[in-house]
Amino acid sequence: MNIGELFDATADAADAVPSLTIRRPDDWHIHLRDGGMLKAVLPFTAAQFARGIVMPNLVPPVTSVADATAYRERIMAARPDGSDFQPLMTCYLTDHTRPDEIERGFAERAWIAAKLYPAGATTNAHHGVTDLVALAPVLERMEKIGMPVLIHGESTDPSVDIFDREEVFMEKSLLPLLKRHQGLKAVIEHVTTSGTVDIVRAHAPRVAGTVTPHHLVINRTSIFQGGLRPHLYCLPVAKRESHRLALRKAVTSGESCFMIGTDTAPHVRGAKEAECCSAGIFGGVTALQTYVQVFDEEGALDRFEAFASLNGARFHGLEPNKGTLTLLKRPSSVLSAVPVDEKEVVVFRGGEVLPWSIGRVKA
Ligand SMILES: [Zn+2]
Repeated sequence: MNIGELFDATADAADAVPSLTIRRPDDWHIHLRDGGMLKAVLPFTAAQFARGIVMPNLVPPVTSVADATAYRERIMAARPDGSDFQPLMTCYLTDHTRPDEIERGFAERAWIAAKLYPAGATTNAHHGVTDLVALAPVLERMEKIGMPVLIHGESTDPSVDIFDREEVFMEKSLLPLLKRHQGLKAVIEHVTTSGTVDIVRAHAPRVAGTVTPHHLVINRTSIFQGGLRPHLYCLPVAKRESHRLALRKAVTSGESCFMIGTDTAPHVRGAKEAECCSAGIFGGVTALQTYVQVFDEEGALDRFEAFASLNGARFHGLEPNKGTLTLLKRPSSVLSAVPVDEKEVVVFRGGEVLPWSIGRVKA
């Protein structure tokens, strides 16, 4: 597959189209899976982002330094020729996570953060944490060594309405957790409600929030537009229009507590168009084009670089990337699906003509 063609990477910013050049951006929340899927989807993330925080929800999950190191090596081996993409690894927290292992992995840079899934919250989350209070020794150690926890914030109580699960988690679990661990650095991932936006703001700078491209452009009605749209189903599920508008305001506000986290989460078509559709949207191909379109529509292009390339690095104590990436306001059509072995993964906004395209990357 020719990434240059897909992304128009040969285009020159000197063309007579409006363009925006920013430091190379990072993606603070990606699912790369493994095997053939990893090989198929990684080139798209690597073409857009210099670094990415890789989620550990493999089967079985990444819970040890040895697992994380081996997975990182498989990702490095799957990079396209010439790619300098750097995967940043995470540890999957379980009821059995040991504080010493967490600290060892952080000290050795085997991982830079740990991922907290409430047990059963989403894809491959059944090994997740059942009791946040019992996790205290692990979180205390992370607090002490300055290691961030990345939180999938949804209640797993089956009696809670699916559209209320984020709000209930924030009230019943997250706010008490932040109170118990007042020095803990935390990322609230894939924020979908105005209430969570306010919580992130109120706890910055030790708390940050990632926002996906899809939650900026779809609302819960989109999932049912003209019939059921399985490729727009993800967790947390998209919310009401008023929440979508709050998310757009938040990311374009210039506040340093919001950053990119695409939550690109590929599943093969058969797992989406199924009796029981898997949760996840494959946004890796159209992430930057979507984000920059939102900033353009909101009249906030001057704030895009901070959201895309600076805020996350600062939160994680990393230097911003040295190189640049140019985005061009020139329509480009997007491929509809990416082949994976004998199957395919449907691309978010695939088949559409998008107003922005990816231009030149300078390392
Ligand atoms: Zn995710």
